[in-house]
Parts: sequence; C-alpha cells; structure tokens
Amino acid sequence: MFLTISTTGTAENPATDLGFLLHKHPGRVQGFTTSHGTAHVFYPEATAERCTAALLLEVDPVALVRRSQGGGRSAAPDAALAQYVNDRPYAASSLFAVALGKVFRSALAGTCAARPELAGQPRPLRVELPALPARGGADLVQRLFGPLGWSSVRTEPLALDDRFPEWGDSRYVRLVLEGELKLDDALRQLYVLLPVLDDAKHYWVAPDEVDKLLRAGDGWLASHPEHALIAARYLARHKRLTQDAMERLELARLAEADGSEAGELDDAAEETQDDAERSVPLAVRRREAILAALRSAGAARVLDLGCGQGQLVQALLKDVSFTEIVGVDVSVRALATAARRLRLERMGERQSSRVTLLQGSLAYTDKRLAGYDAAVLSEVVEHLDLPRLPALEYAVFGAARPRTVLVTTPNVEYNVRWESLPAGHVRHRDHRFEWTREEFRAWAGRVAARYGYTVAYVPVGDDDPEVGPPTQMAVFTAATDATATTGTTATGTPKEGEAA
Ligand code: SAH
Repeated sequence: MFLTISTTGTAENPATDLGFLLHKHPGRVQGFTTSHGTAHVFYPEATAERCTAALLLEVDPVALVRRSQGGGRSAAPDAALAQYVNDRPYAASSLFAVALGKVFRSALAGTCAARPELAGQPRPLRVELPALPARGGADLVQRLFGPLGWSSVRTEPLALDDRFPEWGDSRYVRLVLEGELKLDDALRQLYVLLPVLDDAKHYWVAPDEVDKLLRAGDGWLASHPEHALIAARYLARHKRLTQDAMERLELARLAEADGSEAGELDDAAEETQDDAERSVPLAVRRREAILAALRSAGAARVLDLGCGQGQLVQALLKDVSFTEIVGVDVSVRALATAARRLRLERMGERQSSRVTLLQGSLAYTDKRLAGYDAAVLSEVVEHLDLPRLPALEYAVFGAARPRTVLVTTPNVEYNVRWESLPAGHVRHRDHRFEWTREEFRAWAGRVAARYGYTVAYVPVGDDDPEVGPPTQMAVFTAATDATATTGTTATGTPKEGEAA
C-alpha cells in the first residue's frame, strides 16, 4: 500500500525541501520497523522542480493474525482464510495511518529542526493514494476532504476486478488531493481520516485515543462539518470516548468563536474594570491569594486545573517551595500558549523537571492527577454546565483527592459595581453561571460534606460591605480521619465522573 506526496519548486525554493520537512533524505531508501510490518520511504523523483516522496508499508499478514489472536479475539472457523487473505497488505488502511504517524512523527508535529522556516509555510502539494478503502464511498471522501482547504479532491472508483467490469466497483477509491497547504496540516488530516474511511480499526481503542484525535485534529477538526462522524468512527464508535471528544471539540469551537481563550478574556475584562478603582488588577490579586493559601497549607506538589494560559503556573515556578507543578486544561491552544509563556523549550532541566502541562477534561477521572498536595480551580467551575459539575466534583474531590483544594469563582453580587457591565450580564460569554456568596457557600458546603473535606471562605479583592468581594475563594481541606470519607460512599458515588 502506497502514499505519494509531491511538491513543486524553483531553483531558489527547491522542491527537494520536502526532504527537510519529512526528515527523510531524498537520496536514500529507508526502512522502519512498525508493529505490523516494515515501512519504506523513498523518493521516485527528487529535482528542484518536482519532488515526490513515497511511503510503502509492507504488512506481514501472518504477524497480524498472530497479534490479533494473542489479543484474545478468536475468529470464527469460516473466517480463517480471510485472516490471511485480506486487504491489509494492499490498502491504505488504519494500519497505514499508524505507520504514517510513526515514520513522519516530526513532520506531523510541524517541526523542522534543520530548516524551521519551512515548516510554517503552505506549499503546493499533491497527495495520491492509489487504493483507499472508503466505507461510505467517493461521496464521503468528498465530504471529509472537501472542507479542508484543498483546491481539488478527486476520487476514482476502483473496479472489483478489471477483467470483470460487470462485477462493479470495489469499496476502494483512488484519491488525489491537490492544493496549497502546510505539510503538517495535510499529514494530520490523513492520520485522522484514513482510519475514519477504513472504519475498521485494527487495535483496541484506549482512552488516550481521544488525546491523539484532538492533537491531530487541532485547528481543523472542531469546525469540520463532519466532526461528529469523524470522532465516532475514529474512536471505533466507543460511546464514552466519543462523547468526551465531542465535548472537548465543543470547547475548542467556543474558544475559536471567541477569537481568544476564555481565560484571556476573563483577565482582560477584569483588569480594565479593576484598574479604574485600584492599581492592582483583580487577576493579580487572585493569584496572590491563591499563592498565600497554598503556602499556608504547606503544599509542595500542586495541580492547576483549568490552567488556561499558564499565568498561575508561571507564578508558582518562581517559588522554589513548589517542587512539582502540573497545569491541566482541555484546550490545546491554551496549553500551547502556556508552553510559550513559560518558555518550556528553552528551560533548563532543573526548572523543566518541576513543571508538566497536561491536556485533559476535568469532567473525567484521570489517574495522572492522583496523589498531589493541592489542586487549584481558579475561575474554572463557572465554565462548566451545571449538570456536568458533579462529574468534576467526583473527579477532583473523590478520585484525585488532594489534601487541599482551592476554588475561586466570580461573586455575581459584585457585578453591579462593574461600571461597564450591563445589568444582568455575566462577566464572560462562556460563563455558564455566576453565583452569589450564598449559592457558592451552599455548593461548597455540599461538596465538602459529601467528600469529607472542611471548607473555609476567603474574599479576594476589596470586600464591599454590601455586595462582598469581586472574587470568592473556598479553601477545602481533607478531613484526616477516615470516617468522613466513608461517609462519602454512604451518600453514593456519582457514576458520571468515572473513567470509561
Ligand atoms: N485558571 C485560569 C483560567 C481560567 S479560564 C485563570 O484563573 O486565569 C477557564 C479555563 O478552564 C479555560 O482555560 C478552559 O479551557 C478550562 N476548562 C473549561 N472546562 C474545562 C474542562 N472540562 N476540563 C479542563 N479544563 C476546562
């Protein structure tokens, strides 16, 4: 099975730059061992004017059968022959996408160490797949690739057998894509859409497939008209994972629609409003209050849940008493901005060993978050729909269970003091709700009782005698005696937040 990628060029801007972008030298034939066979990369043509790279995967069908039997799936007797005689060695299936991801890993990530300036540039590309399994036919191929910026998407049905045209067409098509695209965008589309068209994932779909899908789909999947079909098929119709993916795509869409991340807007709005009254912006005072609460709790290993663009992570890094800092956010874009802000790439080993950024949704339990001293949810809960909140509560207080949890959220009573905020409006478009002091305390008290925490309240910003402070913070501390936690089970553990 075969994929060719071609580009054209000139003497100053030679087509052979494709070799740098793919991290594969045009003068060599290279082989790579993958879990299902050997992948070969070679260049049928390599001149300044035209350069074509080919990826060929030699599948070992016998190894494939052994693997799947090892996986405990025994085939029905009449399927015995089909195990050995199948399309896997010939068609650009999901196996091929795995090989693509492995062989062109750096190109897929859009990095080009030798010539960084090349990676960000669109260039004329022609991608050809001579035998693409297409469940859903040429029409689906058009619907999938059509909206992705190609100037031409051509499919040609392939006959079942050329000698017997009366047998009709097979479910394979020849696909040719042409257009000006960045190579990494093109590769990430193929990485996702080949298995979607194949619709026969050969491996067990683990929860981290959602992360892979969102990483590869960053920048194009959320707004794709067929994103629901793409997610469902990519995740082999696994309900829980598909739902997770859909939610995270929706958040990505919201962020795109806003033109900036939620956190950024929150800060911008509050900073200008607060500036008028006091010289210290509210966002800064919030961070100071959080740092003070973490220090007095003696926390060293800290989670920043919904870290946004990493302002708090940055502040935590400046204090060496915080030995391990983990920022978690659902938004890939926010995390990319955070990584830039922190200069993660240029950080020394000492510093970088203290900080980790993770993508994940707080509405699901996540083993990676267990065992920390403290977790901060700064201006995050109000971004979740109320019915989803119990899932977050379980994931944080029930499963991750840090000793200290800090939650900050706007105090809606204070909104009358924001001069530029029209009456009855929340502070940010993406806020699903804003609580009064009483509502916040009722919620926090319920959560504390259910999960065995005690809770105290700290005002952040000027505490107005009438309407209270602009930001309210709850400091939860885990009750040390085990009986309180046993009480949790008695009230019943919400099912919604549990991992798939
Ligand atoms: N903590 C930062 C950012 C607050 S904005 C600050 O105080 O400035 C809210 C952040 O929560 C956004 O970055 C958003 O992407 C993130 N978020 C919203 N829902 C989430 C979820 N279910 N899982 C993880 N992060 C989420």
